Amino acid sequence: MQEFDFDTAAVRSGISRSQFNEHAEALYLTSSFVFESAAQAAARFKGDEPGYVYSRFTNPTVTAFQERLAALERAEACIATASGMSAILACFMALLRAGDHVVSSSGVFGATVQLLGTILSKFGVETSYVDTPDPAAWRAAMRRETKLVFLETPSNPLTEVFDIGALAAVAHERGAMLIVDNCFCTPALQQPLLLGADLVVHSATKYLDGQGRVMGGAVLGARTLLMDNVLPFLRTAGPSLSPFNAWVLLKGLETLRIRMQAQCAGALELARWLESHPNVQRVFYPGLASHPQHALAMRQQRAAGAVVSFEVKGGRDAAWHVIDSTSMLSITANLGDTKSTITHPATTTHGRISAEARARAGITEGLLRVAVGLESVRGICEDLERGLGKQD
Ligand SMILES: *Cc1c(COP(=O)(O)O)cnc(C)c1O
Repeated sequence: MQEFDFDTAAVRSGISRSQFNEHAEALYLTSSFVFESAAQAAARFKGDEPGYVYSRFTNPTVTAFQERLAALERAEACIATASGMSAILACFMALLRAGDHVVSSSGVFGATVQLLGTILSKFGVETSYVDTPDPAAWRAAMRRETKLVFLETPSNPLTEVFDIGALAAVAHERGAMLIVDNCFCTPALQQPLLLGADLVVHSATKYLDGQGRVMGGAVLGARTLLMDNVLPFLRTAGPSLSPFNAWVLLKGLETLRIRMQAQCAGALELARWLESHPNVQRVFYPGLASHPQHALAMRQQRAAGAVVSFEVKGGRDAAWHVIDSTSMLSITANLGDTKSTITHPATTTHGRISAEARARAGITEGLLRVAVGLESVRGICEDLERGLGKQD
């Protein structure tokens, strides 16, 4: 395949035209494919002849999405899944067995913590959590049985930034693999495989679609690792991406970089405005010089991301008042949409963990998280001002 740069790959990679020579990507909404003969069916099933068999295994629209995302992440291969959680599950099922150990950052997506703690644990997989970006703490958490190191960067909701190269080195010293959930940055801001990660997982439901329409996920990495380990699980267990969703996501990728660029610019402007607001205690955004890992974020990412968290003065009452006074922002825990969202992490995304664990993680009662979309930043500030008070 031709090597395109990022912007060209986003619109032109993965295209394989049918006999009709359509210009836009075709949607192959079919569960199975027909064969010329019994012999061809046998050869396809055996894997002796390339070609499509059944959409739980492969589908041309899903293939197009996989090729395009692989080009953007600079990955040898990509396997699409039904959701972000099924991408994470596929990695765990493919690479872990009873007795293995996982080291994860404590700030990963809530369902990932549930998956490790309530499901993988039933099959004899143990997990240790690290709650600091300091590589020494990660090295100390490693055991002889550690097979996987898992992280998200920046973390949700406090936007802590982890050094992917340094933590890949920690994993590799012990023969473990590093998996990065690249949902918050997308390949438009950071390509973890180029920094040393072994696998990247995505919730395509978020920024890759970017318009809040469909569920999807993906696993990316070296071809043999994916084809020999992840694909057999997916083909057999079945959390495959629907061709319809693949088609929607394929079109989402075309505008990914310009959406991310605009949403990150909006987030930086909002973060600066919040930082100067008298009723805001603290702002968490890697693009601000006040952020503890600002320098690392600027080295590792092309922009600081579109999620801004901030602590209002006055605890839960004040935070809820800000949410309830908005008239434009969507009150939802989702993110990655063109529509900006606002959430109170302590009582929603992090409501099920104990108060002590929340305090340890720094999720205070006054904390709010805004995922910046594509509305005018002025409009977002005005909406927050209703409950936050005017900034003279
Ligand atoms: C949403 C999300 C997931 C899970 O993705 P789904 O598509 O909802 O299954 C995983 N990781 C992160 C960081 C997320 O934000």
